[in-house]
Order: sequence, then C-alpha cells, then structure tokens
Amino acid sequence: MNTIRLEPVIGDMQGIRTLFLVPTIPDDAPGPVREGLARRRLATISGLCPCGARRPKLSRQQLRWIRRKGADIHHLAVLHEPDCMASDDNLATLIQAA
Ligand SMILES: [Zn+2]
Repeated sequence: MNTIRLEPVIGDMQGIRTLFLVPTIPDDAPGPVREGLARRRLATISGLCPCGARRPKLSRQQLRWIRRKGADIHHLAVLHEPDCMASDDNLATLIQAA
C-alpha cells in the first residue's frame, strides 16, 4: 500500500477560516482502510463522522484567542465509536493488516 500522507484542506470551523490537515487515501488501499481514512477526512472537515462522532467545538475562550492572535489549534481529537473504522485502534489494525 502506498504511503498515507497529510494533505492541507481549507475549511471553516465555527465561522473561522481553517486549514485542516487530513490523511490522503492511497489508490491501492484496501476498502476498509479507504473507508476509515475517508471517515477521518469527513469528521475533520465537516465535523461529523457517520458513526455519530463530532469534532469538538472551540470554547469561547479559544475563539477569542484565535480572533485576537490568529492563533492555531494543533490537535482536536474526534472520539469515534468503538466499531467505527476511523477509530485509532481500528484504523491502526486495518493499516497493519494491509
Ligand atoms: Zn467515526
């Protein structure tokens, strides 16, 4: 399987123009890996995974700080359901098996 890279995608988070880094989906990846990576992209960019997991919302304090300083948030964890192919454990297992 080809290497999974991070790709920049411009989107919006609570009215703030945002640069998301999302995984690429290798053309030769098996179906379940493709699905897991696609769900991660979707959850990051749109804020919602088909499993119901949501990207955490920024707090008022974080929003104020970002608007004043143009600061960045380095990581927002999306907590996927245990049976979701995008969860850390499931996706790691699927990639190792590929
Ligand atoms: Zn999910």
